[in-house]
Amino acid sequence: AVQAGIVGLPNVGKSTLFNAITKAGAEAANYPFCTIEPNVGIVEVPDPRLDKLTEMVKPQKVVPAVVRFVDIAGLVRGASKGEGLGNKFLSHIREVDAIVHVVRCFEDADVTHVDGKVSPSRDIDTIELELILSDLDAVERRMERARKQLKAQDKKVMAEVAVLQKLQALFEEEKPVRAGEWTNEEKEIIKGLFLLTSKPVLYVANVAENELNEPDNAMVQEVKARAEREGAYVVVICAKIEAEIAELTDQEERAMFLSELGLTESGLDRLVRQTYSLLGLITYFTAGVQEVRAWTIRNGMKAPQAAGVIHTDFERGFIRAEVTAYDDLMAVGSQLAAREKGLQRLEGKEYIVKDGDVVHFRFNV
Ligand code: GDP
Repeated sequence: AVQAGIVGLPNVGKSTLFNAITKAGAEAANYPFCTIEPNVGIVEVPDPRLDKLTEMVKPQKVVPAVVRFVDIAGLVRGASKGEGLGNKFLSHIREVDAIVHVVRCFEDADVTHVDGKVSPSRDIDTIELELILSDLDAVERRMERARKQLKAQDKKVMAEVAVLQKLQALFEEEKPVRAGEWTNEEKEIIKGLFLLTSKPVLYVANVAENELNEPDNAMVQEVKARAEREGAYVVVICAKIEAEIAELTDQEERAMFLSELGLTESGLDRLVRQTYSLLGLITYFTAGVQEVRAWTIRNGMKAPQAAGVIHTDFERGFIRAEVTAYDDLMAVGSQLAAREKGLQRLEGKEYIVKDGDVVHFRFNV
């Protein structure tokens, strides 16, 4: 499953948000592919199409797509130099697909700020600098190794050194990989370095209870302006309210609570959806009487790769895919009708799976 790592300074609301995630989150037992640790929460990706498919097929089991959230606490000023729990936590970030950066946008005299005053921009800089310093360290170590190999005049090593030098200069200006401009060739090299600041970021602006619908909140504006410069996303939530929403298991009660707050969906739902689009992810479905299920793939994946998400055997033995677009299926009301009306297509190895495709794979074992 897709993984997002939650980072942020101490006392910004990470644990509050993470607790809401584990409360509201999916029953981990339903996701055998997800190993469960105390710092991991699983959230279902809300998708009305899955509900409609369920109504239509009436399967024994329904499995939504999920995002794994990993709580990466312990990131403080100086972490890259081993402060706090330091490097151990930085290494956890290496494993995630996206970074969810919680930024404090609420004033509360009872909640101490590590730097004495709430300042979203400075807070973001503090965290980002730790990630940049960690990347700088990684690049310098790699450079040392590459220099030793350089005597061979190997073109590949030379190209790598050029990229490493560019990265080093960028980090010394305290800028993340994201802020650099890279050719496709350079991007390939960077991919192999597993740098923290090359990961896409989503900012969570954590606002006070009474500021949730306050568009002019200056602290939120600060986060938004910054995100816009970086091409990052922002989700405005109130972690405390999310914790309350998570307590409500009754759907009706929940809907009522949300509408009293002037909301149509919880902050967690928005967070999950934004994480999905930040990563360029789409969903295709399998729909049988045993199970209706949503599968997550990267936009642009071809049919065999998409099949491989279900099982590696499906990819290896791929023959073809029977594909019906979600809208076509809904228009005729059943898979049988779709087949009869010629709406079910047979697609081969080069087919690029689309968001909402309802797919049945044929494969050799
Ligand atoms: P962490 O250190 O980032 O994990 O922060 P916590 O989640 O432990 O939150 C630190 C303190 O801020 C706790 O006392 C929370 O109750 C409080 N807090 C978190 N979110 C909000 C919020 O949206 N509004 C207010 N007023 N307090 C909050």
